[in-house]
Amino acid sequence: MNFSADVSRLLDIVANALYTNHDVFLRELISNAADACDRLRYDAIQNPALTKDNPDFRIHVYKDTTTRTLTLVDNGTGMSKGELIDHLGTIAKSGTAALMEKMKGSSDSLKLIGQFGVGFYASYMVASKVTVISRKAGESETWAWVSDGRTGFDVREATKEEIDRLDGARGTAVILNIKDEAAEFLIDEKIKHTALHYSDHIDVPIFLGEPGAADKGKPLNKASALWTRPKADITQEQYTEFYRHISHGFDEPLMISHWHAEGKIEYTGLLFIPTLRPWDLFDPSRRSFVNLYVRRVFITDSLETLMFPWLRFVRGVIDSQDLPLNISRESLQFNPLLPKIRSGVAKKILGDLDKLSRDDFHGFIAFWGQFGAVIKEGLYDAAEHRDDIFKICRFYSTLNDGEKFISLDDYVGRMKEGQEEIYYISGEKIDTLISSPQIEGFRARGIEVLYLTDTIDDFWLQNVPEYKGRKFKSVTKGDINLGQDDKKPEAPKESADLIRQLKEVLKDDVADVRISKRLTESPVCLVAQERGVDMHMERVLKIHQKYAGNSKPVLEINIKHPLIEKLGAKTADSALFADAAHLLLDQARIVQGEPVNDAGAFARRMSAFMASGL
Ligand code: ADP
Ligand code: MG
Repeated sequence: MNFSADVSRLLDIVANALYTNHDVFLRELISNAADACDRLRYDAIQNPALTKDNPDFRIHVYKDTTTRTLTLVDNGTGMSKGELIDHLGTIAKSGTAALMEKMKGSSDSLKLIGQFGVGFYASYMVASKVTVISRKAGESETWAWVSDGRTGFDVREATKEEIDRLDGARGTAVILNIKDEAAEFLIDEKIKHTALHYSDHIDVPIFLGEPGAADKGKPLNKASALWTRPKADITQEQYTEFYRHISHGFDEPLMISHWHAEGKIEYTGLLFIPTLRPWDLFDPSRRSFVNLYVRRVFITDSLETLMFPWLRFVRGVIDSQDLPLNISRESLQFNPLLPKIRSGVAKKILGDLDKLSRDDFHGFIAFWGQFGAVIKEGLYDAAEHRDDIFKICRFYSTLNDGEKFISLDDYVGRMKEGQEEIYYISGEKIDTLISSPQIEGFRARGIEVLYLTDTIDDFWLQNVPEYKGRKFKSVTKGDINLGQDDKKPEAPKESADLIRQLKEVLKDDVADVRISKRLTESPVCLVAQERGVDMHMERVLKIHQKYAGNSKPVLEINIKHPLIEKLGAKTADSALFADAAHLLLDQARIVQGEPVNDAGAFARRMSAFMASGL
């Protein structure tokens, strides 16, 4: 049979020396063997007959120098013929095809595939041929899968000799024909050292030597679940290896939370925040990947109700004392304990992040850059955690023009006397926001404005009106009260005429024209009406086709600007005045990153003005 297209592509990358460190193939194979034991342990709860031949789980690793093979044997759940074909001939992970497409010819390939994990196929870094012999627990047929890792594989019934390779009546043996350049994996010391390095956290015992050998000796590893050991006994390296085992990642964990919750509900959590964004972080499923164990038995890695979607980048294990073992995964989903665990876990992670922000500023900022936009979904998804989320939220602001992140408490602490609201401006890019005319007046008065650049910002702001009693206020919307010293600018008679005429000329495009309190340098700007949708929000909604409305903005003019003063003197010349009015409006649109309504008319007017100016 042929490999599916994504497997071929993956094998290509693996063959082209994916890792400088070839050892990781052993991690992947041990990881698979341990997963297979975990799965059978769970199935055996419902159906104890599955493990009646041998209730103990174990893994064996051994070499044979005459055949130059390295063999890994587990007595886990095993694979049927169909599973051998499906699991080792295609990649089942959702989104793989899309990932492979993305990687084509991209120099980021290695980084992407690194995150994805190559799993079983990593064998081909050291092996010229791989034979997988497997018997599904509870079945009587044994199958062999054989491939040189090029175009395809054979599946056939296993021979008597091959069946003898298994450890009893179930499980899998993976036999690698070691390439010459990887001959070190035929040396016991090397095998032992590498296996130990990658498996010390695994709770299935690993033995060096064939299954059934008279004297098995001691297992290589401690064979107890890492999260059940005291923190003081766990090295950073063991934590990292465990993280890589469960996340299939290759990066370092950025934060580790390991704790035991007692009281009404009892569970242990060992959770990690990755350094790198998982490649599918913004997948619409918003799925999370924390493994659920019940009293050390692995239950599932895809329980939707276990984690909040806004913590979906967290990896690790939750091991519950209280959940029932003897029910299906499907009904577990609705167990009333789960929301309590979820909430406790969220609280712990947010608390640890807050601590990180104080203890390791750079680490925290790295975290925020990768995952801040996701966490902020929680501001409207989980009102009960809002305060804790706000605590760790960081923003750029006018104070140092996007150089430094600040917290909302920093902002509130610096609010001016008489300032009641938290001012913000939202948009795609910080550079555009920094030069927005709408913030000139704030800058001039030393009032800080937050720059919000994540798409999610406009959404949570819709649902979260205030922070500690201070309302959030968009500077591009409605009227602005910039403090008591800010007397209402009186409108001289000329201004009143000017405004009336501007309104007349621009009546199809703007809802109103008024004298600005927020402009100091620019002649004009646009703002949304008080009751309307914020201008950036409107743009976002339009992009997502959630908004068909076309609310007219308000044009604000700076009557102290020389251009506006001169325009006031031209109100008599109607043709010239109308062109100037339209040009001003277009200018205001361009400054905030919007297209002009009629590019042709804009160019014509612009040329005319330039010609007369030159
Ligand atoms: P992953 O472990 O991330 O799913 P792998 O490429 O490592 O990806 O393995 C693919 C699949 O092959 C596994 O999900 C599992 O279903 C199956 N598999 C691999 N090794 C074993 C094994 N030793 N026993 C049972 N199933 C296995
Ligand atoms: Mg695997």
